[in-house]
Amino acid sequence: MFPDKFEYYAPKSIEEAAKFLNGHEDAKILAGGQSLIPLLKLRFTSVPEIVDIGRIRGLDEIKLRGNTLEIGAMARTGEIADNVSIRGKFPVLSEAAGHIADPLIRNMGTIGGDLCHGDPANDFPAVMLALDAEFEISSADRKRTVKAEDFFLDTFATALEPGEILTKIKIQDTGSSGRYMKYKKYAGDFSILGIAVNLLLDGKEVKKCGIGLTNCGATALKAKEAEKFLEGKEISDENIAKAAELLLKVADFMDDDNGSVKFKEKLLKYLFVKAVKGIGGVHK
Ligand SMILES: Cc1cc2nc3c(=O)[nH]c(=O)nc-3n(C[C@H](O)[C@H](O)[C@H](O)COP(=O)(O)OP(=O)(O)OC[C@H]3O[C@@H](n4cnc5c(N)ncnc54)[C@H](O)[C@@H]3O)c2cc1C
Repeated sequence: MFPDKFEYYAPKSIEEAAKFLNGHEDAKILAGGQSLIPLLKLRFTSVPEIVDIGRIRGLDEIKLRGNTLEIGAMARTGEIADNVSIRGKFPVLSEAAGHIADPLIRNMGTIGGDLCHGDPANDFPAVMLALDAEFEISSADRKRTVKAEDFFLDTFATALEPGEILTKIKIQDTGSSGRYMKYKKYAGDFSILGIAVNLLLDGKEVKKCGIGLTNCGATALKAKEAEKFLEGKEISDENIAKAAELLLKVADFMDDDNGSVKFKEKLLKYLFVKAVKGIGGVHK
């Protein structure tokens, strides 16, 4: 099916895009189009104007500035999966990127679009929660920074207000390491469940712990109790098992075509143990 008619606008700068969005409340930003275009083509939604931010220079940059990784909102999923700095310093992020959809979609889809879409089955949000990322947001009259944990509000609902554009993702390099575990039915599928675990270790002791959950509720979830429990503790089978139980307190599962609540609880615990034990330096 063809989408309903819309006006197409391709600004050259964030300022130009923000100015346009300010006067056009119902306009939609187009990034990689991998979520928005199917919705338009199936006529699940229609919009009067599309603002294509794909021609704004520099918005796809990935840079390590000192101890801060900066990722432009238009950075493609495939580039994030392949980026050498990200692989070395934030393996949980490159691993998740490599599990998203298939190479065609990874070549087009962007990290900004994946985060702003607000789909609880998207993989990047959980990683951002585990890495305590911060998001830079611009609009016509202000710039603000929002923590990942304050960004994901509900299914397809984020902290973005009308007229706002996510411009940059910032992540601190603390010397931590992590894994992303995803369970899906077929290659290229969305997660039935996913979990991002990021640990800063001192020998066997956990100094800092970040855990984000994919598709375990209405939105991506930060497993704060399990994080707090592991901090200051040694990595042991007993502590991992106790933290795994705490994950179930935050998860909000339903029986559906992907499986029963019981199955999902078991799966989440299994993926968590696998992630923790797979983090570099934990098991020698
Ligand atoms: C078959 C298929 C399988 C997929 N599998 C997965 C998967 O396994 N895991 C996964 O995570 N994703 C998956 N996706 C989704 C994919 O990652 C999309 O690329 C992503 O959800 C949206 O990114 P995009 O750049 O294409 O954004 P778009 O589709 O262009 O936009 C998505 C939404 O975000 C808004 N938006 C985009 N950028 C910004 C911005 N900078 N500021 C404010 N708002 C913005 C748009 O207005 C729109 O509402 C899949 C998609 C398909 C079609």
